[in-house]
Amino acid sequence: MRLLVVEDEARLATALQRGLQAEGFVVDLAGTGPEGLDLARHGGYDAMILDVMLPGLSGYRVVRQLRAERHWLPVLMLSAKDGEYDQADGLDCGADDYLTKPFSYVVLLARLRALLRRGAPRRPAVLVAGDLSLDPARRRVTRGGAEVELTAREYALLEYLLRRAGEVVSKTELLDHVWDASVQTAPNAVEVYVGYLRRKIGRDRLETIRGAGYRLMT
Ligand code: CA
Repeated sequence: MRLLVVEDEARLATALQRGLQAEGFVVDLAGTGPEGLDLARHGGYDAMILDVMLPGLSGYRVVRQLRAERHWLPVLMLSAKDGEYDQADGLDCGADDYLTKPFSYVVLLARLRALLRRGAPRRPAVLVAGDLSLDPARRRVTRGGAEVELTAREYALLEYLLRRAGEVVSKTELLDHVWDASVQTAPNAVEVYVGYLRRKIGRDRLETIRGAGYRLMT
């Protein structure tokens, strides 16, 4: 079994490599997000162990990109306990399992074996609300069967709202999940993009709940 370990902390990466090699795995290391993404695309791995906080590209972005390109290798994500992200984010973006640092090596090995037994995941289900549908594997959105062209941000916003269809989603949640926390975002960004999205999916599909947020109609 070939594994790819993407981890920028050199000591942890080397320790993982040695430990996993001792278990009989073939292990390649990558130290940055872009390098990990590139190897994962072309390397023919059976699974990937992926840190969240990486130079160049976060682990979330790496796995999101891989899934968008229809690479389904099993991904076990690693993250610091006090990180700004949580388990739900990791699984949301297409990872298969998630381990919080510091972790026990025995637990890591058990999770990894379980992942390898399950094999590559099936492609994610298409999200549907009324006549709207979004296929995360193809990054394709249709309305009444006709394709809807969305920008990357509009797509991310719609995907999040579809995953929460019928619920009221606050502006803060949308900012946290759809916008990059490390980049300064205009205070009215959510309103602006909700406006763009409404033009494309139909004004009545996305309800404003005054003082609370937005609700995508199911
Ligand atoms: Ca790291």
